[in-house]
Amino acid sequence: MTAKLIKGTEIREEILEEVKAEVEQIKEKHGVVPGLVTILVGENPASMSYVTLKIKTAIRLGFNEIQDSQPEDISEADLLALVDKYNKDDSINGILVQLPLPKHIDDKKVLNAIDPDKDVDGFHPVNVGRLMIGGQEVKFAPCTPAGIQEMIVRSGMETSGAECVVVGRSNIVGKPIANMMLQKGDGANATVTVVHTRTKDLEGHCKRADILIVAAGVPGLVKPEWIKPGACVIDVGVNRVGEKISEKTGKKIAILKGDVDFDEAKEIAGSITPVPGGVGPMTVTMLMVNTLKSLKFKLGLM
Ligand code: NAP
Repeated sequence: MTAKLIKGTEIREEILEEVKAEVEQIKEKHGVVPGLVTILVGENPASMSYVTLKIKTAIRLGFNEIQDSQPEDISEADLLALVDKYNKDDSINGILVQLPLPKHIDDKKVLNAIDPDKDVDGFHPVNVGRLMIGGQEVKFAPCTPAGIQEMIVRSGMETSGAECVVVGRSNIVGKPIANMMLQKGDGANATVTVVHTRTKDLEGHCKRADILIVAAGVPGLVKPEWIKPGACVIDVGVNRVGEKISEKTGKKIAILKGDVDFDEAKEIAGSITPVPGGVGPMTVTMLMVNTLKSLKFKLGLM
């Protein structure tokens, strides 16, 4: 059997078209568009390319996009004042502070200073708490887990009553997606197990999974024989395992591998995400969804 591919690149396009249509409708009816500010401190190349992608996507959707670049030596007090300025700015619905921040700045202090109602990354403790409570309390789910859930749902996988095993317990992927999958409601209602480095029988747990979400950051950790035939496998891992020359550009690019042995796993799973082109494109997409949501909350449309 060859698994159905759950392509993040295709689902991204579907979602972005939906967001764009909604932005146009809101603009027509209410005369406003979502406002997103990205604060970038310094010139970390990885951060800069990620921010560029966010900006391009936001502009494509008709958002009011502001990029606020600050020098590496900005003081913590000045950065906090900047966050406060955007907290008070009515035209801004989402504030994103790109990490990592320079060492002299306490990133927790800065992230916690963002108004929870503009925290479109979903990492503020208030939003973590709201996510834990679930249902109507939830404002912004963190972007990568939200993207994972969206992929599972849009692939047609039944989540209700499914055995869902999450490999990894990080605050940005493992814990939130586990919490989201066990909530009462559509796209959830799963029976969830979270496994990590201290788990005794990793293989045994994985073998029970109808939905297997792997976010460990260990290339090829999950072996094909650990996958239940027909399971839905979401591989979140992005691991650089070498370099190659791109056929398109002739430039050196990283060879990326997931946490699942894809070539063999796709012969056993019912559906599976590739790496790259799987979960990766969903994170920025869900950031746009959250920013639109923020505006809709403000307008009383949600
Ligand atoms: P992380 O903070 O390093 O957490 C990794 C988790 O996996 C930890 O809970 C760890 O267990 C567990 N783990 C590691 N090795 C294991 C093993 N051998 N057996 C069982 N559990 C193991 O990583 P993260 O930030 O969640 O990211 C995970 C992966 O997803 C990375 O490859 C990252 O690049 C990728 N990622 C992709 C996206 C995206 O595509 N948009 C977004 C975020 C992350 P302990 O807690 O016991 O140490």
